[in-house]
Amino acid sequence: MDFRYSDEELAALREVQQLVRENMPEGWLGIDPGPEEESREDVLPLAIKMWRKLGEKGFIGITLPREYGGQEASLWKESIILEELSYLGSPGIDTAIVEADLILKFGTEEQKGRLIPPILRGESKWAIGMSEPNAGSDTFNVQLSAVEQEDCYILNGQKIWSSGAHNAHREVVYARTAPDKHRGVSVFLVDLSTPGISIRRISQMTGIPAFCEVFFDNVRIPKEDLLGKKNGGLEILLYAFGAERMTGLFQIHNARRYLEHLIDYCKNTTGPNDQPLSKDPLIRQRLAEMAIEIEVGSNLGNEITWLATQGKPTVKASSQVKVHGAKVIQGMANVGQQILGLYGPLNEDSKWNKIGGRFRHSYLSSVAISLAGGTSEVSRNHVAGRFGLGLPRLDP
Ligand SMILES: Cc1cc2nc3c(=O)[nH]c(=O)nc-3n(C[C@H](O)[C@H](O)[C@H](O)COP(=O)(O)OP(=O)(O)OC[C@H]3O[C@@H](n4cnc5c(N)ncnc54)[C@H](O)[C@@H]3O)c2cc1C
Repeated sequence: MDFRYSDEELAALREVQQLVRENMPEGWLGIDPGPEEESREDVLPLAIKMWRKLGEKGFIGITLPREYGGQEASLWKESIILEELSYLGSPGIDTAIVEADLILKFGTEEQKGRLIPPILRGESKWAIGMSEPNAGSDTFNVQLSAVEQEDCYILNGQKIWSSGAHNAHREVVYARTAPDKHRGVSVFLVDLSTPGISIRRISQMTGIPAFCEVFFDNVRIPKEDLLGKKNGGLEILLYAFGAERMTGLFQIHNARRYLEHLIDYCKNTTGPNDQPLSKDPLIRQRLAEMAIEIEVGSNLGNEITWLATQGKPTVKASSQVKVHGAKVIQGMANVGQQILGLYGPLNEDSKWNKIGGRFRHSYLSSVAISLAGGTSEVSRNHVAGRFGLGLPRLDP
């Protein structure tokens, strides 16, 4: 495998770096990728600005066809851009890319023309409505009902854990249209301003209310917003799971930035014997161990992109990176707390905090990473199964 970037890829990388440098405030320490920190009041305006800028530059959905606003660029170029944005801690890394991709694969021509361009311009934000109170890992247990009428579907029920839905324009909603567990699910591209939809926010242990419960009370969804066929949600869900697993890779590159903050801190801070912390043998071991884990994860990312370019299955590698990404960001948060000592858990607004309180945030936020987008246990099941170790299927 050739790891070198082409001139075109290097140019895109530099452009992304410049974009973040120009648009983030002085001394920007970065945020975690995804909707959670973007829900912070001080970050949301930056996220909206950055998201639009990324859209203007054509960096959202870069692999998509030109007729919908994409650049028909390679998967390599897309992964280089997304990894760099995660590493730089940029807001505006939009999960709507996943939705644009879903619409491209399963949507009608009308849906593609209507819904993809605003996503790629950074104007239309989407949430994901898979989970319900009784449908998490067991996603096909969705109970939110969609009943077909002459001109529309009527939706009743609720979603939960829809990250950032309070700031989103639309949501991909997985709903029950027939009793068959797997062959009775349909997918709707729901406009969240439709009458009958209400949203209630839920706080995580970080204190950020980025999770949403989304309630549907006799909500009329036009038939042109059904994605794919009625009861055809199985294939769409399996495809969407693949994209969810890739969030593990964002965590690897997120951890790369945390590691660099910590290395910087250790070089510039003296410990008990007036020696810089960077000369402490135990600290060096810990930092080196994290660097190894990050490198392993990064190479897994390269493998996934390569497999995808070859049209080979990515289930095993993307499940591996999902598990590994969670371990790496949690490990990084732990190492940070150990090195920072009592300064580690201090709030961002404490005058005594170190590295802007980033390790306090990371320590709290990283707990959920082994659940988000499919849990580590479920991902290990994928590695163990048909596409990985070939162990026999576990019947429910
Ligand atoms: C930060 C974050 C963001 C999220 N954003 C969204 C979002 O935007 N949209 C959305 O729809 N959902 C979202 N979710 C929900 C997420 O998809 C679910 O949390 C996840 O699918 C697990 O479901 P659950 O929480 O109901 O846990 P459960 O499925 O109830 O699992 C509970 C425990 O049992 C284990 N378990 C379950 N089944 C198995 C099995 N077969 N083998 C081994 N162990 C098993 C799990 O690993 C877990 O430890 C988000 C979650 C988090 C943490």
